[in-house]
Amino acid sequence: MSWEVVIGLEVHCQINTDTKAFCGCSTAFGAEPNTQTCPVCLGMPGQLPVLNALAVDKTILTGLAIDAQINLESKFDRKNYFYPDLPKGYQISQFTIPLVEHGHIDITTKGRGDRRIGITRIHMEEDAGKSMHEGLDAVSHIDLNRSGIPLMEIVSEPDMRSSDEAIAYLKNLHQLIRFLGVSGADMEKGQFRCDANISVRRPGEPFGTRTEMKNMNSFRFIKQAIDYEVMRQIEVIEDGGKVIQESRLWDSVKNESRSMRGKEEANDYRYFPEPDLPPLRVSQERVDAIKAGMPELPHQLRERFEKEFGLSAYDADVLTQTRELSNWYEALVAAHPADPKRCANWMANELLGRLKELNKDIEHSPVSPEAFGKLMDRMGDNTISGKIAKDVLDAMIESGKDADTIIEEKGLKQVTDTGSIDAMIQEILDANQGQVEAYRGGKDKLFGFFVGQVMKASKGKANPAVVNQRLKELLKG
Ligand code: ADP
Ligand code: MG
Ligand code: ZN
Repeated sequence: MSWEVVIGLEVHCQINTDTKAFCGCSTAFGAEPNTQTCPVCLGMPGQLPVLNALAVDKTILTGLAIDAQINLESKFDRKNYFYPDLPKGYQISQFTIPLVEHGHIDITTKGRGDRRIGITRIHMEEDAGKSMHEGLDAVSHIDLNRSGIPLMEIVSEPDMRSSDEAIAYLKNLHQLIRFLGVSGADMEKGQFRCDANISVRRPGEPFGTRTEMKNMNSFRFIKQAIDYEVMRQIEVIEDGGKVIQESRLWDSVKNESRSMRGKEEANDYRYFPEPDLPPLRVSQERVDAIKAGMPELPHQLRERFEKEFGLSAYDADVLTQTRELSNWYEALVAAHPADPKRCANWMANELLGRLKELNKDIEHSPVSPEAFGKLMDRMGDNTISGKIAKDVLDAMIESGKDADTIIEEKGLKQVTDTGSIDAMIQEILDANQGQVEAYRGGKDKLFGFFVGQVMKASKGKANPAVVNQRLKELLKG
């Protein structure tokens, strides 16, 4: 009998504000350790937190984008635990009444098609500092620049049934958050981190005991960690054992997980209402105003691209992965409005492929949308063929010159006049009398051979449509 996998995800996402959640310290990344701190985020006794309104607005915007309920009154709670990078001895979080509840994200995977994944809640909390051990002998250092940076914790329902669904959910959430501009969500900087709760069961049975893989910040590792953990749990159960509820750490070097702490040692956070902050009340007017300022969401943009520009679902998806990509595409269409589909095709397949090899984002493309539009123009007016255009694009990227200059300098203009094409064809036919006989005798397949020869003789510059048409004529004999 087969096993069913059950996954629920908790995502910690840094809210991009200039200042921290409860004090005025800078949130800028990469500063010298402990240069962005004050008595509040250092946890000095007697200091009072003041809530960052922008962090609240961005959490509300996120809630609205996932169709969730915004609680007009929520509250903050203290989550007590001791850890060296947590100077107060507690984290300010939201426990009993979060700001956002009951949302969802839609995903599509090959396995189960379209699925709606429930989001239980989004609550606000503050980040802890960072312990540093690397390169240190027998001591640890602590950097409290991160202490007090505002986070959203986005908790899903246990609605995912495979690592593929988990990754699809995370990618959609990541994309949504970037479109909303509520977080840089840079995974390498730890701005988007995931805890994966995983269990297995026989189909139809109640949920099994879950384990939690903590703090992963790469889609690839998350998938590996889930697949590993699923296998491990199945083995434990099939060997007659029991899965223990525990937190585990993924070791991306050894490709295995190990136990962090078991349930017996599980923290009892002794939550209680945060006495230094009043309940968080937001007005319906404020929520409405945030809703009115909602930017275009990824699925809306995708649908618009399909409708407005006639793109395939695939191209629309590729070109809306980031706002930077979609903006570039729209600038390209503005530069070359004649053929949005060709633009999409060439951008998705030719330009992005080359940028990937160069390890460059679209923002750092050496070719501008206007210059790329010119290249599209030259294909559109038959100055060059698609094949030559690829060479021109290579040269544009390499030299920074524009398409017209390269076409001129390299003499790449397409030959379309039938006079010169007929002459080329005649030469090929004369040189290949045997094949001509065979073709005329019924070996139709040889037609491709002649096309190839003529194109080669013209160094790719002959217009393929004219070559085809003239060859048919002249081969009749
Ligand atoms: P905690 O506070 O201990 O992290 P929660 O009840 O908030 O516990 O659940 C955390 C996450 O675990 C949620 O994303 C939820 O969907 C997921 N989850 C709960 N039960 C299971 C289960 N049996 N298998 C997999 N995931 C689960
Ligand atoms: Mg948890
Ligand atoms: Zn501070």
